[in-house]
Amino acid sequence: MPTRTSDVLVVGGGIIGLVTAWRAAQRGFSTAVLDPEPGGGAAQVAAGMLAAVTELHYGEQTLLALNLASAQRYPDFAAELTDLTGLDLGYRRCGTLAVALDADDRAHLRELHALQHQSGLDSEWLSGRECRRLEPMLAPGVRGGLRVDGDHQVDPRRLAGALVAACERAGVVLHRTWAERLTVERDRATGVLTREGEVLGAGQVVLAGGSLSGQLKGVPDDVLPPVRPVKGQVLRLTVPERHAPFLNRTVRAVVRGSHVYLVPRENGELVVGATSEELGWDTTVTAGGVYELLRDAHELVPGITELPLTETRAGLRPGSPDNAPLLGPTALPGLLLATGHYRNGVLLTPVTGDALAHALSTGELPDEARPFTPKRFGAGALVEQSV
Ligand SMILES: Cc1cc2nc3c(=O)[nH]c(=O)nc-3n(C[C@H](O)[C@H](O)[C@H](O)COP(=O)(O)OP(=O)(O)OC[C@H]3O[C@@H](n4cnc5c(N)ncnc54)[C@H](O)[C@@H]3O)c2cc1C
Repeated sequence: MPTRTSDVLVVGGGIIGLVTAWRAAQRGFSTAVLDPEPGGGAAQVAAGMLAAVTELHYGEQTLLALNLASAQRYPDFAAELTDLTGLDLGYRRCGTLAVALDADDRAHLRELHALQHQSGLDSEWLSGRECRRLEPMLAPGVRGGLRVDGDHQVDPRRLAGALVAACERAGVVLHRTWAERLTVERDRATGVLTREGEVLGAGQVVLAGGSLSGQLKGVPDDVLPPVRPVKGQVLRLTVPERHAPFLNRTVRAVVRGSHVYLVPRENGELVVGATSEELGWDTTVTAGGVYELLRDAHELVPGITELPLTETRAGLRPGSPDNAPLLGPTALPGLLLATGHYRNGVLLTPVTGDALAHALSTGELPDEARPFTPKRFGAGALVEQSV
């Protein structure tokens, strides 16, 4: 018998679980979250680029629509959270400049520009000289770039802190512990068993465990989300007053096939990221990772070597087979997913909260989130594809 029950129980208190819980509580559901450290997770590492346009990839046009929907909601979302909690999210409408350092990068960026144009997105091609006029710290060798004024940034650590505060204000109960197992009765998810052996019952359970989402015991195999950890190492530098403004906007490039970006915060923090490594749940910061990031960032903006290096850290992106999130009801009644946000979880936070609140209330996903149903994977989907 469950000792405590709620309408909605969210497993995982990263930014995705927290936004889901907050929006659910706003709709009148009694809501609880389980996480040993609510507000922790990948948001403590992430850069916080809201890069719907610069992160466009071939074959990801469906995801683009969701990314754009979320980017459009950010100003109101950030204002609502700040009004409610008094906490500033570091939401900065600074734009992004993606630059090329050699002929190959330039050809690659030209292709991205064409794809953006075909997709009806705003971006402007600039010569190397025009790029340096915008960002004087760029290396003299920059061969050209794309100016994207609509790709902004938020500070994910502040976002996570504000979501914890918003949840607390909305009456969400935070259980600071692990969910050991999903409980299922008569083919319906009914709650979880905690690490301490307590049974928490719920009308609906949302699994939002980030890269650990596929590990929860008790979830039937055909419903278990196909999510894997993708390691990313990130550096934080500090821009002293005398060097400010060091950069005015996010600057990014592909250097020898690796993505590197520099995200300047208003408080002087400069985030340099990120590696992308398939190494399971390893979160070691390695000399090689730090070296490659500094080497590539230095090629882009030589002056960074003057700045104090204040932090090195690694986190895990929750990757999915098609790089898109898994949202909403599963084939197991009572169990919903909010996971697999991969490299866009910060960007997708507003739209995920809205989609899950809608799904919890109606049993259906809203139109913009329908392509991201978890039912596109799993046993049912494979049978459908084979006929
Ligand atoms: C290096 C790096 C850079 C990034 N940069 C960006 C960026 O610029 N822009 C962007 O939009 N996104 C970015 N991301 C991606 C973004 O950070 C993630 O997609 C997002 O934070 C995922 O949030 P989440 O809540 O789904 O998962 P997580 O942050 O992983 O949180 C999951 C939480 O669930 C908890 N949990 C798991 N299992 C259980 C259980 N059984 N019981 C209780 N609790 C459990 C964990 O403790 C954890 O706190 C980046 C990520 C990384 C690693």
